[in-house]
Amino acid sequence: MKDLRSESHLIPEIFELPRRILLTTHKSPDGDAIGSMLGLFHTLTEMGHTVTAAAPDNFPAFLNWMPGIENVRTFDTPEGRIEIEHAVQVSDLHISLDYNALQRLGEAMQQLCETFTGESLLIDHHREPCTTYTYSYHSIDASSTAELVYDFISIILPGHAIRTDVAQCLYAGIVTDTGSFRFPSASAHTLRVVAGLKEAGLNHAEVYNNIFDTNSLDRLRLLGYVLSSKLTVLPEFNTAYICLSAADLERFQYKPGDSEGFVNYALSVEGVQFACLLKENGSEVRISLRSKGQLDVNSLARQYFSGGGHLNAAGGRLPLPLAQAEQTFLEVVHHNRSLLTNS
Ligand code: 5GP
Ligand code: MN
Repeated sequence: MKDLRSESHLIPEIFELPRRILLTTHKSPDGDAIGSMLGLFHTLTEMGHTVTAAAPDNFPAFLNWMPGIENVRTFDTPEGRIEIEHAVQVSDLHISLDYNALQRLGEAMQQLCETFTGESLLIDHHREPCTTYTYSYHSIDASSTAELVYDFISIILPGHAIRTDVAQCLYAGIVTDTGSFRFPSASAHTLRVVAGLKEAGLNHAEVYNNIFDTNSLDRLRLLGYVLSSKLTVLPEFNTAYICLSAADLERFQYKPGDSEGFVNYALSVEGVQFACLLKENGSEVRISLRSKGQLDVNSLARQYFSGGGHLNAAGGRLPLPLAQAEQTFLEVVHHNRSLLTNS
């Protein structure tokens, strides 16, 4: 695998001649997944490449405004699947965005992408990246994949102005993955990248409004219910968690993305260092973990929840009914008492 962070001179020649390129991002795509993918999609398309942008499943409605969103194909629709299968056959470069291993595509799309025979490139900021790619442009210090895509585009097109629609997409990735610049991952470089996006015509107030001030009443009422009735604090473990059953979600006409950010309310309780959202999803429970300081939730997600992510934000799953998943979570908390009370 060639590390394009240290050998960035190799980047322009990868894109010198027109190619057929498949871009993919992770399951339950978020602002960074879709923003970084569309930012790269627009750039490569304009350069003359033939590009397919693919996600395993649908993105939340708060991303519907993104320039070019109609180009995203989703694998869980019959038409999307056909197009993505075709793209896997005819493309000569597969670029993985915002995920560290093909498992993050879900089983069916993972199996399909494993049949791909061309060159592959990983652009990502999650811990423990897969090392079987042809090329890697990876850094766990990047606030977001969108920040890495900005740097990457600046190398492909040195001296060229970033397009305004690309700036809107990349900013969406950065502002969502940094929790609006409040997480430690937002660095001086992140802010320099945002300065570059402003110079490219970014309207940050419009992006913020499109993403954060477009709540449905159902989502706000679900949040109200969660905060009043579903938030449990375990002060002796510096821990807070929320359990959401399928019935809770149904009661508020849940749509993908509606519980985005809920886990941060648990983390915002005074004294809490570790927060978890357990959300019933079919036969499994989706786990979202957040922490403050040096408490490593990526390790906890890997060790106990078949997942992973970053130091302070990670996710995973438990193939159990919700009540048992809650018990398992509480056992994990007890087992890690010293970690939770010393960090
Ligand atoms: P969230 O809790 O918002 O779903 O995820 C938090 C972070 O962990 C995101 O950066 C997400 O990409 C990552 N993440 C979530 N689930 C998994 C997983 O199953 N495996 C890995 N490696 N990362 C995950
Ligand atoms: Mn990300």
